[in-house]
Amino acid sequence: MKHTKRILSVLLAAMMLLVCLVPAFAEDGAACNHTWIWTIDTEPTCGEAGVQHQYCPACGSTQNEGTEIPATNEHTWEWTVDAAATCGREGRQHETCTVCGKTRSQGTKIAATGNHSWNGGEVSRQPTCAQVGIMVYTCAVCGNQEARDIDKVAHADNDGNGQCDSCGISMATGNTGVSLKSIFDRVGNFFWQIWLRIQKLFTGEYFK
Ligand SMILES: [Zn+2]
Ligand SMILES: [Zn+2]
Ligand SMILES: [Zn+2]
Ligand SMILES: [Zn+2]
Repeated sequence: MKHTKRILSVLLAAMMLLVCLVPAFAEDGAACNHTWIWTIDTEPTCGEAGVQHQYCPACGSTQNEGTEIPATNEHTWEWTVDAAATCGREGRQHETCTVCGKTRSQGTKIAATGNHSWNGGEVSRQPTCAQVGIMVYTCAVCGNQEARDIDKVAHADNDGNGQCDSCGISMATGNTGVSLKSIFDRVGNFFWQIWLRIQKLFTGEYFK
């Protein structure tokens, strides 16, 4: 009887130990009905792949370590000027991603500014009364040249022959010649004097 009691108590102790150990066995993984959750180790960037693995929160097991997450390819582009444009020459630029350093659109043109720094200009052809002159301006930065007209000069009749000394045009209506207006003035005055005499005639002054 004493012997049987001892066996029972040992059995009971063994069962209790087993009951206590069962959850431990379950957590060991063999008995877990895993719930896999993807866990990110390294976030992907626009230019570099990320890394992730699967994790079971019930038992803490992991699998698929080092699985790649593709790069997003969503770059943040910014223009970088390789050669600045000048007034007369176009420049070059390209785009660089500020996050990963990837580049694209190499050799994109920048239009020339056109803001030349013109010098005082040199007379290439003197103006006359018959033809405009030409002034040539040169850009101090790029050497571009631009021609502009110089206004014609006025006709001149210094010898008083009624013709321009330079081009020979008749200057009867010019400043130094007899103007059409002055001819009308003279004719008008002539008739006015006659009219005054006729008036005198009829007011009887003539018969005094
Ligand atoms: Zn699990
Ligand atoms: Zn990028
Ligand atoms: Zn220029
Ligand atoms: Zn002239």
